[in-house]
Amino acid sequence: MEFATFADRAAAIEAEPADLETVARVATLLEDAADGDGGRTVAVVARYVQGRVFPAWTSRTLDIGPSACYEAIARAAGTNVSPDDVEDRLAEVGEIGDVAASYDFGGQRGLSAFAGGDDSANGGGGLTVPEVDEALYELAAAEGSGSQDRKVDLLFGLFNRCSSDEARYLARLVLSEMRIGVGEGTVRNAIGEAFDVPVERVERALQVSNDYGEVARVAREDGREGLDAMTLEVGRPVQAMLAQAGTVTGALEDWDEAGVEWKYDGARVQLHYDPGGVAIDGADATVAADDAGEIRVFSRNMEDVTDALPEVVEFADEHLAEPAILDGEVVAVDDDGEPLPFQEVLKRFRRKHDVAKAREDVAVRPVFFDCLHADGEDLLEEPLTTRHERLEAVLREDSEREPDEVEGLSLLWRTDDPDEIERIDADALEAGHEGLMLKDPDSTYSPGRRGKHWRKRKPDVETLDCVVTGAEWGEGRRATFLGTFELSVRDGDGEKRRSAGSAVEPRNLETVGKVATGITDEKLAELTELLEPHVASEDGTRVELEPAVVFEVGYEEIQTSPTYSSGYALRFPRFVGVRSDKDPADADTVERLERLRG
Ligand code: AMP
Repeated sequence: MEFATFADRAAAIEAEPADLETVARVATLLEDAADGDGGRTVAVVARYVQGRVFPAWTSRTLDIGPSACYEAIARAAGTNVSPDDVEDRLAEVGEIGDVAASYDFGGQRGLSAFAGGDDSANGGGGLTVPEVDEALYELAAAEGSGSQDRKVDLLFGLFNRCSSDEARYLARLVLSEMRIGVGEGTVRNAIGEAFDVPVERVERALQVSNDYGEVARVAREDGREGLDAMTLEVGRPVQAMLAQAGTVTGALEDWDEAGVEWKYDGARVQLHYDPGGVAIDGADATVAADDAGEIRVFSRNMEDVTDALPEVVEFADEHLAEPAILDGEVVAVDDDGEPLPFQEVLKRFRRKHDVAKAREDVAVRPVFFDCLHADGEDLLEEPLTTRHERLEAVLREDSEREPDEVEGLSLLWRTDDPDEIERIDADALEAGHEGLMLKDPDSTYSPGRRGKHWRKRKPDVETLDCVVTGAEWGEGRRATFLGTFELSVRDGDGEKRRSAGSAVEPRNLETVGKVATGITDEKLAELTELLEPHVASEDGTRVELEPAVVFEVGYEEIQTSPTYSSGYALRFPRFVGVRSDKDPADADTVERLERLRG
């Protein structure tokens, strides 16, 4: 296909505001791009039409800035045009495509031989889509000293053969500003329409390959069967499955049992391991050559971060034996292996220089919670529980080992018991992690989706300031600590409510719940010291406290309840902190509970 034809079609698509018509136009473009070249042109067109030069999964970029592009345009436009003139015109016109289209590049055509172009001069420059693709790959590959000049030369060679419409879309493509209104969904639907394959099969193939070009090529060459045969490739990243905010209550309503995991406060990583060397799909041979290696680590956005995270590479080397793609989180840790805040991971994540030094300052440790591929088998369509079993098997070097002894494994509990979930939450917080992830145990892995199957426990929207009116002595190693704190709010108008089961006289304070979770041993010791002087009476392990201390408490929901004297109960109350700046007289009121409940 001539690049001029692509440019014509792009102009027509840009002028077409209706989505359906756009899909039809893109579909026709894809059909017409089928040149009997094994689908190469159709692959390139499927990428270009959405402004992509390379597949989404590769870290390859053109690595060319706007000023190099202005320079190439200026040179192609003639000796009397400077890069500054191009920039001035851009300031006037506002868009690089229009600027490029405003010059007449023909005058310099005789010079294109110098830049390796074909000066066939058949009215236009005779540029074809594969020729543009080849030049852009060459441009991306230029590295080292003199590479910026080489890039400008190559781009000049292309602009020099462009008509005004071609120049418009070439400039936009190079600067990632295609903007003709063609998004991923449009291309997906157009591939389905052009090659008569069901859109959901196209979608699946896109999920495993992350390459619209390759999917268009396979759809054209081998139809639905070809698409269904596309698999994950170790070494080619997949989009990460994402989470929505959610509550324990919601999870237990929606699923028979909730999958419960600790939520680690780090950065997402996808580990690709192949002891035989990473095999990359042959469709893009240039990429295979320089991306090869047996361990690759990718970020949530599919960037290659292998070099920045040697600990993850070492982990794979030490613990893995079969080809696998694992999904997890890297967490920064201190010298004792205790987790550090998220900001510390960021110092390491994209670091290119002095990695060894950075590693001395902050070490990282991977924890894996999912397995997308193991030993030649794709697992995306398996339920979470099966994937997690495979993960355990992949990571477990010794079959005698209990799951909690397997290094790098994030544990998955299945339960419908809210109290157990609270215990897991407390343990996660105590171990220095962020809280909980709730997952549907039967759900498949949906790359790139922020669906309802994974939920991060919603941070508290509002907190309440409650007076601590009671407590219980703990058991076992917590026997010397006060815990399970009874919480009360003020009854603003002094109205006495039912004091069902509460040992505390109303004194204008009404109970609203108990908080036991989210408190570390260290904190419990501090709270015991703070509260002990206010013990009014004791009955077995139960302690009644004079109102003196105010806790800030988070919760999921406020429910009506016969259990507490306020008539309300906090669902899943969590300790946030002590409000040492507040007296009981400043605590929240029953009226506020009523208002918050709505
Ligand atoms: P957020 O970044 O707040 O949207 O929360 C979702 C992120 O939490 C994921 O993208 C992961 O990077 C991270 N995360 C931590 N622990 C887990 C876990 N056990 N399962 C899934 N994601 C987790």
